[in-house]
Amino acid sequence: MTEIQPFLQIIQVTKSYQGTVFSGIKEVSLEIKQGKITAIIGQSGSGKSTLLNLIYGLITADEGTINFLGERVWGPDVKLIPGHEQMKMVTQQSDHLNHYAKVWDNVASLLPNTNLDYRSAKTTEVLQQLSLLDLKERRIADLSGGERQRVSIARALVSGPKVLLLDEPFNQVDASFREQLQQDIRQIVQQTGLTVIMVSHDPQEVLSLADELVVLKDGEIVETGTPQQLYHQPKKLYTAKLLANGTVFTGIKAVSLGIVTDAKTVMIYAEDFLIDKNSTENLCTIETILFKGFYEELILEQEEIRFKMINREIGKYQLNEKVNILVSRFLSFEETV
Ligand code: ADP
Ligand code: MG
Repeated sequence: MTEIQPFLQIIQVTKSYQGTVFSGIKEVSLEIKQGKITAIIGQSGSGKSTLLNLIYGLITADEGTINFLGERVWGPDVKLIPGHEQMKMVTQQSDHLNHYAKVWDNVASLLPNTNLDYRSAKTTEVLQQLSLLDLKERRIADLSGGERQRVSIARALVSGPKVLLLDEPFNQVDASFREQLQQDIRQIVQQTGLTVIMVSHDPQEVLSLADELVVLKDGEIVETGTPQQLYHQPKKLYTAKLLANGTVFTGIKAVSLGIVTDAKTVMIYAEDFLIDKNSTENLCTIETILFKGFYEELILEQEEIRFKMINREIGKYQLNEKVNILVSRFLSFEETV
């Protein structure tokens, strides 16, 4: 019987940094699927970058192993040149760009001079994939931050790595550029079978971009799943709070909102409250109205309990107006707030 070899396997990996409290990564086991986008999410300091650096071989694990295509990934204690040859990493800081050279040369210079036709064709292909072809004659110094980040990704991809590691590379890119870049990355993954492992703390980004999510808390994996699974059925409150906009209640307060539960903690997403004209239950006061473009976020108050609600009927409600609300869905957790 032939066994299918896992693409990238992290087995019981621990890496701890010196200090009074634990910091690093604790007994992490994980399989990364080939040709998919895996996003690692978690609060600041939860170990996301440490895990990414371990996968790439930039740091050495204290315990455990990482296998890539059946071979062990070695850290800098064993390897002279850190970083796996078939992986590339892009971070916010990874600015190896030559600011006075053109976009084209910044990318083409990474390919050998021995086959000029291939060099030209491959550079064109990668610039095209990253929507940079129109900018190929521009100097890096004359590009926006978002365009430079695209060039960094083009440089990472031109040598044809099997894995692209992204450590919050879109943070400094404005929203409109960011969406286009995410779309381009998704398309590259679909067209080329590239595997992407990314770290992000932007819920919108991971929900729309990732195929698989890995949730880290204090160096440990809390849960994994698809964005849909973890958004709708998170096992942990921590996950729900990372991914969704909502309000957390103690079970007792939730009961006073008319929810039937014996859970310790309840979270209600902002989109799961409705204003119900036909009801006389749950009278609340609209304390704040935040205009968000195509919707409003209302902050409602009921006997000192405050919660957020999304209202798509813009301008319909007034400040201090009293409304009756209905809860269409809630999540129960056994953790305390
Ligand atoms: P994240 O990327 O999720 O913000 P990191 O992986 O960078 O988290 O860091 C996880 C924890 O390990 C943090 O508490 C951080 O302070 C600590 N840490 C990271 N790198 C080092 C280091 N080189 N030396 C000491 N502590 C570190
Ligand atoms: Mg980090």
